[in-house]
Amino acid sequence: NQAKQGKKFLDWYSPDLEEKMAWRLGLIRQLRQDFEYGKLEVWYQPQLSLDTLEIIGCEALLRWPSDNGHYISPAIFVPLAEDAGLIVDIGQWVLEQACLQQKKLVGIGMDINVAVNVSVPQFKVANYAQGIKDTLLAHKVDPKKIELEVTESVVMDEIGVVIDTLQELKEFGVEVAIDDFGTGFSSLSYLQKLPLARLKIDRAFVKDIPDNDSGAIADLVVSLGRHLGLKTIAEGVETQAQADLLKQLGCDEVQGFMYAKPMPSNELMAFLKTYKPN
Ligand code: C2E
Ligand code: MG
Ligand code: MG
Ligand code: MG
Repeated sequence: NQAKQGKKFLDWYSPDLEEKMAWRLGLIRQLRQDFEYGKLEVWYQPQLSLDTLEIIGCEALLRWPSDNGHYISPAIFVPLAEDAGLIVDIGQWVLEQACLQQKKLVGIGMDINVAVNVSVPQFKVANYAQGIKDTLLAHKVDPKKIELEVTESVVMDEIGVVIDTLQELKEFGVEVAIDDFGTGFSSLSYLQKLPLARLKIDRAFVKDIPDNDSGAIADLVVSLGRHLGLKTIAEGVETQAQADLLKQLGCDEVQGFMYAKPMPSNELMAFLKTYKPN
């Protein structure tokens, strides 16, 4: 076959690579099929005010069940879905699930935010903001209660278009957070121009607290947020020591296994009904 003939010319070629590509294609095919058959799930992880420990929202996180009862991590399959062009349709479905979830929350008297992750290919769709508005209007959900989490890679792309899109979303009431802040390359001068609501401190900068100097980055992000008038939320909070330091730094909100893990919608509802701060 052609790939084999190419072998002597391409010194990067290896059977490993071929195997990897076949594995990827297999996974993509399976993902497409499972999505079409309605097998994907959206789980939700609570987000809390660090001050009051009240639950102020939850993040929608994709889950892909595999045959053996385990879940394939979105860290693996979301990048595949992005490459295969599947993330646009899947992302639209996640947004719709988030809208339904938000209304369920209103139904139990907890009108909190639902945050949805957005990838670059989704954000690049023509009239992206209008698509979001249409979906929220169709579901009659309060735009102020749906938040989008975008990474720095989304924001760094065609900054002019991004500003317009964020502005349009903001005027409609949808807030945007920068996810995994500090792990990508963000120009700080761009940051100032973007109509954002939150900076999300990546787990990498929370993980080693209180060891090393890792608290330094969290400190920096919190003060940056304060100066820019943005709220800060830390992800991946697992210990009381981390929570204490983040509180001392003035971080507004937290999300992490220490408080609650991501869970299916029905579990979230049960959790919220019995949850008491402290
Ligand atoms: P993310 O948006 O940064 O989501 C936070 C991740 O941190 C989640 O991983 C969550 O389960 C994990 N996490 C939260 N608290 C803790 C903690 O205390 N300890 C540890 N070890 N982990 C914690 P998850 O669910 O595996 O998702 C991974 C990534 O996949 C997400 O990172 C996001 O970038 C992407 N993703 C997930 N769902 C979607 C989606 O619907 N659309 C898009 N475009 N991307 C998604
Ligand atoms: Mg996120
Ligand atoms: Mg994150
Ligand atoms: Mg992260």
